[in-house]
Amino acid sequence: MSTAGFNSQNGTGTGQTYTNGPSQNPVALQQPPGVGYGMNHQPAYNPMQAKVLGPPNPALYASGPHQPVPPGPQLGSYPPPPAQPLLTRPQIGVLPSHTPPQSASPGPGPRQAQATPPAQATPPPPAVTSTSYYTGPPAWQYAAPRGPAPNHVNPAAAAPSHSSAQPPGPGAPPTSIHGYPQPGTAPPPMNPPPPHTYQPNRPAYGPPPTAPPARPPGATGTPPPPKVDGDVAGNGPQAPNSYNHVDNRMAGAAQPGPPGRHLGHYPSLPPGYQNTLAPPPSSLHPALQAATQPYTQGPQPYQQQPGGPGPDQLSPSMAAMSLQSGTPEALRVVNLLQERNLLPPAPVPAPTPCLTQDLQKLNCSPEVFRCTLTSIPQTQSLLNKAKLPLGLLLHPFKDLSQLPVVTSSTIVRCRSCRTYINPFVSFLDQRRWKCNLCYRVNDVPEEFMYNPVSRSYGEPHKRPEVQNATIEFIAPSEYMLRPPQPAVYLFVLDVSHNAVETGYLSVFCQSLLDNINALPGDSRTKVGFITFDSTIHFYNLQEGLSQPQMLIVSDIEDIFLPTPDSLLVNLNECKELVQDLLKSLPNLFEKTMETQSALGSALQAAFKLLSPTGGRMSVFQTQLPNLGVGALQSREDPNQRASAKDVQHLSPATDFYKKLALDCSGQQVAVDLFLLSAQYCDLASLGCISRFSAGSVYYYPSYHHQHNPAQVERFQRDLKRYLTRKIGFEAVMRIRCTKGLSIHTFHGNFFVRSTDLLSLPNVNPDAGFAVQMSIEENLDDMQVVSFQAALLYTSSKGERRIRVHTMCLPVVSSLSDVFAGADVQAVTGLLACMAVDRSVTSSLSDARDAMTNAAIDSLSSYRQSALTIQQPGLLAPACLRLFPLYILALLKQKAFRTGTSTRLDERVFAMYQLKYQPLAFAMLMIHPALYRLDDLSDEGALNINERTIPQPRVLQLSVEKLSREGAFLMDAGLVMYLWIGRNCHQNFLSQVLGVSSYAAVPEKLCLLPELDTAESQRTRALVSWLRDQRPFFPSLHIIRDESQLKPHFMQNMIEDRTESALSYYEFLLHLQQQISK
Ligand SMILES: [Zn+2]
Repeated sequence: MSTAGFNSQNGTGTGQTYTNGPSQNPVALQQPPGVGYGMNHQPAYNPMQAKVLGPPNPALYASGPHQPVPPGPQLGSYPPPPAQPLLTRPQIGVLPSHTPPQSASPGPGPRQAQATPPAQATPPPPAVTSTSYYTGPPAWQYAAPRGPAPNHVNPAAAAPSHSSAQPPGPGAPPTSIHGYPQPGTAPPPMNPPPPHTYQPNRPAYGPPPTAPPARPPGATGTPPPPKVDGDVAGNGPQAPNSYNHVDNRMAGAAQPGPPGRHLGHYPSLPPGYQNTLAPPPSSLHPALQAATQPYTQGPQPYQQQPGGPGPDQLSPSMAAMSLQSGTPEALRVVNLLQERNLLPPAPVPAPTPCLTQDLQKLNCSPEVFRCTLTSIPQTQSLLNKAKLPLGLLLHPFKDLSQLPVVTSSTIVRCRSCRTYINPFVSFLDQRRWKCNLCYRVNDVPEEFMYNPVSRSYGEPHKRPEVQNATIEFIAPSEYMLRPPQPAVYLFVLDVSHNAVETGYLSVFCQSLLDNINALPGDSRTKVGFITFDSTIHFYNLQEGLSQPQMLIVSDIEDIFLPTPDSLLVNLNECKELVQDLLKSLPNLFEKTMETQSALGSALQAAFKLLSPTGGRMSVFQTQLPNLGVGALQSREDPNQRASAKDVQHLSPATDFYKKLALDCSGQQVAVDLFLLSAQYCDLASLGCISRFSAGSVYYYPSYHHQHNPAQVERFQRDLKRYLTRKIGFEAVMRIRCTKGLSIHTFHGNFFVRSTDLLSLPNVNPDAGFAVQMSIEENLDDMQVVSFQAALLYTSSKGERRIRVHTMCLPVVSSLSDVFAGADVQAVTGLLACMAVDRSVTSSLSDARDAMTNAAIDSLSSYRQSALTIQQPGLLAPACLRLFPLYILALLKQKAFRTGTSTRLDERVFAMYQLKYQPLAFAMLMIHPALYRLDDLSDEGALNINERTIPQPRVLQLSVEKLSREGAFLMDAGLVMYLWIGRNCHQNFLSQVLGVSSYAAVPEKLCLLPELDTAESQRTRALVSWLRDQRPFFPSLHIIRDESQLKPHFMQNMIEDRTESALSYYEFLLHLQQQISK
């Protein structure tokens, strides 16, 4: 099974440790070998043989030795508090370590009457036993496959709702009387929504929409449906909402669009780049456009805003025309060995699918939904020929500045496959619609005949559900088995000596104090705290107490909750006690000498506390847990880091954290892990607690409140975002696709509960997902296919909501067209996810080989099968011209690189990030953006809220592009470097950095001084604009040429040769050599 390509064999089976990452449904498992995604290779092939150029030099990249954990005092000796703090300490509830036996009550004591074992303390009420929204086997097991039926024909498995809580199923009359409000009686549920639908959450989405508020009837902002004839499947009479009309497309293409939201313009593209890939004029870089809306200053209309066709809507038509009339730009032949400068001047935009303008206008934003191939091959054999992976990349819960929200007691769905009605269905007539996923003809429910936007009757095709590819429903009661859970937040804090040393605790407490009123929630919101070292400390915050009470449980082997009812308290009622606690916590442990960490027991305690309600567990850990359940040992040998050909210990050392995560998932608890440590913490093991419970992992290597100010700032900013961002509870997501396509492998943080249902106890707006697909049945008679992601969740206000995204893509029958539609960034992002799985289930070298082979095979296939005129060189279609560069970038990325000293935890964290980050952010990690800053000008600058944002050209990642006279900013996603050349212009030094000379640049500078100069303002405007576009806070390091951090900067110079890795040109030669074999 050790083929060099990516096969779908990784991660199958229930007992395997990494079942979640690459998990597969039975359909996929039944695939014959080689039908995966067309990248199968012979085992003999090993590109690595040609790559080892010399012995690596670990010294070059040494990133500091690991500190051994100092031996500490014996466990259990908890020192008395330094001063009598606010908290009453052990006298209340100190439970001696010899109590309690497993089934007995903890024994007598002042407070012990309350301290009952969990079995008695929290008898699961009936509602809790059915916490799961889905019937079926326990969540920690894989559900027995319900049969190999693909998701599109299995009604029982099709809805993001469990079988027992399905909305009216087949046979139910589609004429509920509780439809929309009667005509003329209620405002439309479109944006802006009426107060009872959407308004409460409105501020969380950012600035107010630019769209006008309530529109009068007839002046609806929703564009009228295209008037077209025929329907997608060639069935039925005049169909007002089908999309294969050519005349309209051509007419649309001829219309010059209004300028739209022109806030600036891009530097013009070099010749040849201006056809299909022309970026839409916008205030943002196209690659980051919608994904970043909430973080930008100005209101950004959502993609499907009303208005005439803008330039971005013209491009698909132009692409379509160019396909008809000649070679499209995407297929322009590029000889990579000759064309050196391939990077566009601005970040690479997502390609536009080759659809009619009418269809594309309705399509889902590429920031939410992206496919590796924007033209879907008609057959699996055609896909196999292209040697490109087929998959989707999703950012389903992304913050959107405008989101249509619909309240309806009847949500219209296909009676056969449970697809939500969407813009790509076809109406046979006013009363019948045809599903675009399974082609069943459904009745239009009576209430759907009324259009709340136009307040008119008889125009179902004008309903918001049919006009918006992204829409949210407020779910009726069929979508819930129990009342929606309240927002519950439990904080689990490491207070060992090591933790106190880092100083993180005071930052955390202050941050929570600052943001406590901004925690998403309502009057039911609950909070609780657990601290731990070698023992577990609970905090009684019950209303009426004069101060918080600390309860220590030292029996970590059999953890129980001392006072189960008063540890999670209503935030509104007990806010003062909570604030008291947060003010006193940092001092409470100031002088602790306890070095041990019983993280596993603390997690068990936290799980018990959250089980009855579900919620979010935020865990802060600063060292390797070394006591009790889940204890770990160091597995990293720093001496082996650089020299080992392969990297060991990428998989967890124990299944404790995964099992606990699955228990958490079953009780609707997600665990977010904040790891702050200078030492090895075995993230590969610890991270499982978040991966399988749909949590997030944050990592701050070498965090220290004094020595590492950049990390402190990053931690503070991240915490603010974390505490205040939107959150969805008890969520599930299902992705459906048109009959014939099949989804088989998922990437991200979640647990696959049944064959294609992702369990997400929490969902947050910064999480990305990816799935792989195959083509099960030929798509011969289809012109388009659709994909739909439906996310069912409970809002922090206790509403059950469903967010639905639908994307439509054309089907093509020629290999050239498949190549023409390739989305090189999506392909790269998906390959990165697959390579992470491969690294864990097989080996890092195997994963590296497979990535290289992906480039070789696709370019080889292009040369052999798609090119009509043979010519020398290494040829690629223009749309894939960056593919080899991105593959090389992946090989040099922290996650996959070899020959350089890379800490195991940092490598594992990079792997998590690649699988979890939405594509736009993952791409910055893979291929950072390099800008020259010392000659910034306002030419081509954006203008946002009266701030001028310079738009310097993106440079190739090569030292060739650096100059000693300059200053260069490298944006690598989580981190930015500003490199100052030795002979940097005096003007930049004084006007931007505020120093008199190069030598005066401090060694550890992380802040740009706020100088009142044009140069300073320009530079700061650019840096803060870049930061504003992502949900996490990248730290900035200003480094001189001889800085300790220079190797980190230089390692990102992907096009250059290093001791252990090929240069870009060498890599191209290697590819060419393999292709011409
Ligand atoms: Zn259907």
